[in-house]
Amino acid sequence: MQHWDSLGLEGFLSVHPGIRIAELNDDSIALSGRYHLRAQLAGSQLVDKMYQLRVIIPRAYPEKLPQVIDEGRYIPRSQEYHTYTDGSFCLGSEFRIKFILQNNHSLTAFFENIVDRFLYAVTHRIEFGIFPYGELAHGEQGLADDYGEMFGISGKLAVLRALRALGRRKRESNKLTCPCGCGLRLGLCDYRFTLADFRKTARRRWFRQHLKESFKPLEKPKKKSRSTGSTGKKTDSLQLLITPSLSCHPAYHLIGSDHRYSIFLLYSK
Ligand SMILES: [Zn+2]
Repeated sequence: MQHWDSLGLEGFLSVHPGIRIAELNDDSIALSGRYHLRAQLAGSQLVDKMYQLRVIIPRAYPEKLPQVIDEGRYIPRSQEYHTYTDGSFCLGSEFRIKFILQNNHSLTAFFENIVDRFLYAVTHRIEFGIFPYGELAHGEQGLADDYGEMFGISGKLAVLRALRALGRRKRESNKLTCPCGCGLRLGLCDYRFTLADFRKTARRRWFRQHLKESFKPLEKPKKKSRSTGSTGKKTDSLQLLITPSLSCHPAYHLIGSDHRYSIFLLYSK
């Protein structure tokens, strides 16, 4: 229990009396019960709703992220609502979530910063027809947009360059082309300081693996010009094959840059 208490479990349970420990294993804990959210984003509707949730938190958290499941079956289990067929939520890209939690990963922080925002966005979509903050595309495009916003750059090429740089030691990455578009080597541009902040979020190996697993390398311009029509089609069908699991979250889209965000939460219990 000591381990879980270090994540603020006791405090979390006392603030959410409808939630109980459902299972306690060596490698995880499962919480289950009624979860109340009352929240409003400026310019959007009030959400006041009770959910029936199950949350499985791995012992390796925050390295491994929790799974949150809508046991009450309020949220349609479809991609459109960022919910898998087993009722678990697509809470956003692993990298975005780790970045949000890197200074505080208590259970309360996880709920306030990740789960509440998800529930608010999806409930708003169900009750009022729209996602209050827009949503990211699924798959690779969503990741590129998400990371571009975090890194302060835009376009897939820039994002790939940033991930590549983060996968190498600083000294080596300084020799690479800067992702910011300045045309210099990273080591000669102040953007290297911006990028260096993200080294705290994940290890170099994680960035290397992620780049390999989640992104197709950019096509060389030669190939593109040779068969524009068919290449476009090919890309579409390939993108459908990529699982949406990494990027489709509707709530994080504007988390980093939206000032309204600070007055998001009224109350949650
Ligand atoms: Zn630069």
